[in-house]
Amino acid sequence: MRPSDLDPAFISHAPGYWSSDDMEKWDDYRWQLRNRVNTLTDLESRIHLTDVERAGVLLAGNKLAMSITPHFFNLIDKEDPDCPIRRQLIPRIEEGWTAPEELSDPCGEDSHMPVPGLVHRYPDRVLFLVTDRCASYCRYCTRSRVVSGVGEQHLEMNWEAAFQYLEKHTEVRDVLLSGGDPLLLTDSILDRLLTRLRSIPHIQFVRIGSRIPIFLPQRITPELCAMLKKHHPLFISIHTNHPRELTSEVRDGLGRLADAGIPLGNQSVLLRGVNDSVEVQKALVHKLLMCRVRPYYLYQCDLITGSSHLRTSVAEGVSIIEGLRGHTTGYAIPQYVIDGPGGGGKIPINPNYVVDATPGKITLRNYEGGIFEYPDPTPISEATLEDLHHQALHRCP
Ligand SMILES: *Cc1c(COP(=O)(O)O)cnc(C)c1O
Repeated sequence: MRPSDLDPAFISHAPGYWSSDDMEKWDDYRWQLRNRVNTLTDLESRIHLTDVERAGVLLAGNKLAMSITPHFFNLIDKEDPDCPIRRQLIPRIEEGWTAPEELSDPCGEDSHMPVPGLVHRYPDRVLFLVTDRCASYCRYCTRSRVVSGVGEQHLEMNWEAAFQYLEKHTEVRDVLLSGGDPLLLTDSILDRLLTRLRSIPHIQFVRIGSRIPIFLPQRITPELCAMLKKHHPLFISIHTNHPRELTSEVRDGLGRLADAGIPLGNQSVLLRGVNDSVEVQKALVHKLLMCRVRPYYLYQCDLITGSSHLRTSVAEGVSIIEGLRGHTTGYAIPQYVIDGPGGGGKIPINPNYVVDATPGKITLRNYEGGIFEYPDPTPISEATLEDLHHQALHRCP
């Protein structure tokens, strides 16, 4: 029997669906990339697909490619058609339907690009898309319109134009590298990219958004960590959704990044049938803290085309945060956000702890439902001040 997903242990799932002969090459990330599961034949040779998955795979071919690293594929429970790993990576027939509220560019990124691949939405920071490829493809990808190379639209990039824009825009102090997955670039290309960014004096802060530590922990080599370490202050935001994803290999890779002095955050997406319960979220955030990763954002799933089967209501997200706040470590609690459809940026959503607010007093509830009042400060009177002055005078030496 497979261990419970709520068990805090870090478990390796290798060799799983692969033969023990493959274990010699297992730790080589290039082997992992070459052996990704990306065809229906390969997929069906390893697990029995349900009808909704089989049809989903056939439909996915010209939208968002299917691709799953052997490491991540091994997390699939073949006995469980509702397996939370399958739901994230194996296409389903529901993807073929576009609900009326859905959009191909849900966060309005294409209209906020001053140069191709550079999204400048906020006053002091930019999102720099540096590749259109990932180690594996999440079915709810907010950028599915441009990643994986099989859709109609392609990601336009012009690094030189982006560098020149950043050099000119002295208000930009924070650059977030994303894509695609920047850690799929070679060490030397990444090194040159980071060196170039670091040569711009007003850029104080650089971070990388990556799911590689989860999909392909073998990529987190000592050489990569040594190179990244040269470019501090550098943060990494990883992306993980379910406690089963935190295997012993992932924990070790994250440990190497943390040992290189890289502060780590996690971004999760709230997904129906994957992590839409307090129990699963709690197990996830507790394991993240054990890996020295601070939960950063919990995203309400973007309104990406074909995602209705993976989305929840916002009320469900709020109740998950209520189930965490006060009940566990404050460091473990991510900020729940909605990325405003059409380009509003990230908007925080919080349970309401303010029961009443009147002039002079706020009434609050705590995580257990207890009611507390917090009054505004009472101004000190002139008479009291005078009195205090008198007292002070009498104590003069
Ligand atoms: C998420 C995002 C950022 C970074 O936002 P933070 O709240 O600072 O993490 C910057 N630019 C764009 C376009 C983004 O979507």
